[in-house]
Amino acid sequence: MVQLLATIEHAVKKPVWGCTMCGQCVLHKTGLTCPMTCPKNLRNGPCGGVREDGNCEVEPDMPCVWVKAQDRSEKMPRTWREQFDDLRPPVDNRLQGTSSWKNLLTGRDKQVPAGWQSDEE
Ligand code: SF4
Repeated sequence: MVQLLATIEHAVKKPVWGCTMCGQCVLHKTGLTCPMTCPKNLRNGPCGGVREDGNCEVEPDMPCVWVKAQDRSEKMPRTWREQFDDLRPPVDNRLQGTSSWKNLLTGRDKQVPAGWQSDEE
């Protein structure tokens, strides 16, 4: 059942957002732009290498994921838009390939690595 859920989630999200199944979905906080499509997997904003044309320093033909995220977040409902600047914890790679829907329901996606704490807590 758990694997079926992950399969369905991937089938839905991969074609639309390029989802790689990190298991800790933050799409609603990033203007429905998947931060895991950033070549550096940055989840808290762009690196210092965004080109003048707004493209990525690693993939020069690709628009920076975070430039897109910023633009799109401005069109999101206020509740989601206000979460754009939230500090997101490091990716827990143990969740790679698991269903973020299940992890949301169980609260597993809220568990952070030992020693990590947000300034906002
Ligand atoms: S944040 Fe993670 S779960 Fe959400 S679309 Fe991106 S890779 Fe998939």
